[in-house]
Amino acid sequence: MSESEVRVRVAPSPTGDPHVGTAYQALFNYAFAKRGGGKFILRIEDTDRVRSTKTSEEAILESLRWLGLHWDEGPDIGGPHGPYRQSERTEIYREHTEQLLKAGDAYRCFCTKERLDEMRVRQGPNAGYDRRCRSMALSESQRRADAGEPFVVRMKVPLEGVCLMRDLLRGEIQKDWASVDDQIILKSDGYPTYHLANVVDDHLMGINHVIRGEEWINSVPKHLKLYEDFGWQPPVFCHLPLLRNNDKTKSKLSKRKNPTSINYYRRAGFLPEALLNFLGMMGWLMPNGEEKFTLEEMCANLELEKISLGGPVFDVAKLRWLNGRYIREDYTPDTLCDQLEAWALNREKMRQIIPLVQPRLQTLTDWSYLTAAFFADEVPFEPQDLVMKGQTPEQLLGILQMTIWKLEQLRDFSASALDALFRSLAEAFDLKLREFTAPFFVALSGRRAWTPLFDSMEILGSDIVRMRLKLAIDALGGISGKQRKNLEKQYVALFGRRP
Ligand code: GLU
Repeated sequence: MSESEVRVRVAPSPTGDPHVGTAYQALFNYAFAKRGGGKFILRIEDTDRVRSTKTSEEAILESLRWLGLHWDEGPDIGGPHGPYRQSERTEIYREHTEQLLKAGDAYRCFCTKERLDEMRVRQGPNAGYDRRCRSMALSESQRRADAGEPFVVRMKVPLEGVCLMRDLLRGEIQKDWASVDDQIILKSDGYPTYHLANVVDDHLMGINHVIRGEEWINSVPKHLKLYEDFGWQPPVFCHLPLLRNNDKTKSKLSKRKNPTSINYYRRAGFLPEALLNFLGMMGWLMPNGEEKFTLEEMCANLELEKISLGGPVFDVAKLRWLNGRYIREDYTPDTLCDQLEAWALNREKMRQIIPLVQPRLQTLTDWSYLTAAFFADEVPFEPQDLVMKGQTPEQLLGILQMTIWKLEQLRDFSASALDALFRSLAEAFDLKLREFTAPFFVALSGRRAWTPLFDSMEILGSDIVRMRLKLAIDALGGISGKQRKNLEKQYVALFGRRP
């Protein structure tokens, strides 16, 4: 790799649906790399062993491919600096931790959970670690580790002075070292935390520009300290502004207010080039002011310094408008026909739907009303049709919300897994399965009778299902903050885990 070659990366954690924020960061990294003839790398940050899943990793890769953001090195195609999946690099992190321990830049911490809890009660929940183990001699710490006592490794952050950092968009930022905690870098399970793995990998993979979300800006002092301890040259940092909901307070983009999964937009009939174009407009403008531009045009014109920090709003209405422009301006009847075939009428999808519909068809035209819900984004329904006899809207709101939470945690969205889930939910709410599922027919298809529920849900996919359930909640008047808290408590009581 040549000294001057631009090398950038996107480093998603595979802990959920592929997020539009990941696509946003990937796009700016990709365009920046392509502009300078550099390389764009995909790295999977799966050090959270509980929350990371293979399904999520595959979905992230697939959605970036769909968008056309092809990477030059990554876990699926390899490359000269692999492996590109952090769970396969644990030995590298262990060696680097060892190096810091030997140099006195990090220390083992043997404090138990009880002691840390007690410390927090004494110092308040926001106080950092009180550094009790920081002064322990290395020989003693080695002896206790050899004896099998569990420990974590923490970095030694300076106790005073000021950390000076530079961000490409914000200029120089200062932070008092006294406000920075002795961050854990290696967990007791031997896995690194984000901070260590991220810095070590960025260095070893030759990353010279780190372009990522604003939420990481507060981590920069810790990262700079690690670069210094290892004697490495830090990269240029560029923190992109957070995407915002289109609401009064411009709150941080959240799935409570907007679908945030790339899969949703794909299934809801948005075009990849329109979604990319829309993400490119978040904080950036083409020099000629034109709102509609291609990926190539963005690559040819992007200057990171021109990104504006004024809270870009992810306004789905605007995305819809832009998508319409693409359909009208860029497609001929023939190419649109190809696009529709690929999206809706492809044999694979039709083959899934036909077995559900065939027993219910008298003439071929019955096809259209029976399958309309499979080819829609939102479906119209009458809110009063949702609530079943003997049920209050409050009860139904609770059921819908808790089901959404359950579906978010469901890793296998197959008809049989859904069947098992709904049976257990009906039991938890003390309802017959038919009573429990009735509102779901209405919310998902707009009708009281439909094709079999679980097979139909599998075809719709998790993202569309959850979005329609959320619309049903809105149609019933929504859930207040206080109700949500209560529901969270009930959920924990019923299912033994947090939503
Ligand atoms: N794994 C981190 C994330 O998903 C990466 C942050 C970074 O780019 O440094 O947000």
